[in-house]
Amino acid sequence: MKIICIGRNYADHAKELNNDLPEEPVFFMKPDTALLRNNDPFFLPDFSQDVHHEIELVLRICKAGKHIEPEFASAYYNEITAGIDFTARDVQQQLKQKGLPWEKAKAFDGSAVTGTFLPFAAMPENIAFSLEKNGQTVQSGLSSDMIFSFNEIISFVSRFVTLKVGDLVYTGTPAGVSAVQIGDTLAGKLGSTEVFRFAVR
Ligand code: ZN
Repeated sequence: MKIICIGRNYADHAKELNNDLPEEPVFFMKPDTALLRNNDPFFLPDFSQDVHHEIELVLRICKAGKHIEPEFASAYYNEITAGIDFTARDVQQQLKQKGLPWEKAKAFDGSAVTGTFLPFAAMPENIAFSLEKNGQTVQSGLSSDMIFSFNEIISFVSRFVTLKVGDLVYTGTPAGVSAVQIGDTLAGKLGSTEVFRFAVR
């Protein structure tokens, strides 16, 4: 399986990082070794002093497809959760300045947290999600605030990359990203359901 992530999909987050709003989805990928599940602890990597949490809605692909039209895209995912796209912001900043790919900052082990998946059909039209750090809400978002919708993302990515069953699509983070420290507890909610809770070590 593969992990596809969308960058800059919420205007308030693009602004906090001084990024222009994209004219088309920006995407990058993580390897399957980035997955962190079952509330396993996250071990801070030694190559960064500034690892940020990015809470995101995560779709699970349930049907293989390529060149998917937006009006048919909703048939290609049937489960959703909240997850974290951990980002070594200091490393990413250096890579961006040099125009280099982001893998060193984005694809490291444990950088793709997923919570418990829930049936997409049970979700409301506008999906709320949030992240608590040590009991305080630090990020919250609504799917209606995405610049590119789920279906636009699926359609766009599938022009370049064939989607397969089990692939995950991280759909971007709202504002409020910040560094995590050893000893932090992170908990993610999808609506009012807690879908993950784990420690930073
Ligand atoms: Zn992200």
